[in-house]
Amino acid sequence: MTGQSPAELLEFARNYSCGHCDGDTVELTKSEGNAWSARFRHNDDCPIIAGAISSIPDKVRALPEGSQYREES
Ligand SMILES: [Zn+2]
Repeated sequence: MTGQSPAELLEFARNYSCGHCDGDTVELTKSEGNAWSARFRHNDDCPIIAGAISSIPDKVRALPEGSQYREES
């Protein structure tokens, strides 16, 4: 997830939980252009890691109120 403010991403990080593994770490990173990104660390055997399942529903559920899901591909 990219482009939200750090405060939004922190709230997202608190809210986010994977429905498919028990990973619990969200890394916030700042890229060039001062855009913050949040990346959730799934367990290695999580189906989201394998690409079998989309993580977007879990992400959308974790969004702070009024925030929109955006991601650079
Ligand atoms: Zn997972």
